[in-house]
Amino acid sequence: MGEPRPGAPVRPVIVLATGNPKKLGEVRAILEPEGFDVLGLDAFDPVPEPEEDAETFAGNARLKARAYAAALGVACLADDSGLCVDALDGAPGVRSARYAGVDGDRETRDGANNAKLLRELRGVPPERRTARFVCAMCLAAPDGTVLAESEGTFEGVIIDEPRGDGGFGYDPLLLLPDEGLTSAELDPAEKNRRSHRGAACRAIAPRLRAAGLVAGG
Ligand code: IMP
Repeated sequence: MGEPRPGAPVRPVIVLATGNPKKLGEVRAILEPEGFDVLGLDAFDPVPEPEEDAETFAGNARLKARAYAAALGVACLADDSGLCVDALDGAPGVRSARYAGVDGDRETRDGANNAKLLRELRGVPPERRTARFVCAMCLAAPDGTVLAESEGTFEGVIIDEPRGDGGFGYDPLLLLPDEGLTSAELDPAEKNRRSHRGAACRAIAPRLRAAGLVAGG
């Protein structure tokens, strides 16, 4: 990154500790209008992935933000998110990404996770299929200090077959009753306006600004 010309506006750069290009794209689209540029882990040499073994989204976001900030030597923002289904006592919850226990590329894992969710909910009537996406965000410094945290939720109901091909993960299964559309059928900007990730990003944005991250900082 070169030095900006004197007097040129400097946009703060945020490092989002994710290798998920869909998450990165969403966070970029949400934080760019707030005045931030966002880099993902693909902008750095590979560093070891921490084990996400906390029992809460906030705990996992904290663990990821701290581990990547220490490894990269820059403050990092981490997102831990997932789907909580009331009829399944909050499952898949923090285990959303690996619910079906299947290896393979992201699409294969998402397909297997969605199929398992539908199996688990077979026979559960529509009024008992309420659910929400939850997103916890944490900004940590390389010395492990937690600089800011936030959380957002996105309410809906789980339908009985996937619909739409936008978004990622469980998006094709979460129906927004007021729209009659699944999260995967929403226009991406509308998903970001309504989503757990949008809410968590907008809540943490003032504190990202206060933390004063600037290019390379
Ligand atoms: P993480 O990368 O460990 O935070 O895991 C997030 C997992 O939760 C993803 O693999 C998805 O299965 C699910 N998830 C999180 N956010 C979303 C979303 O916006 N749409 C659909 N699924 C999501």
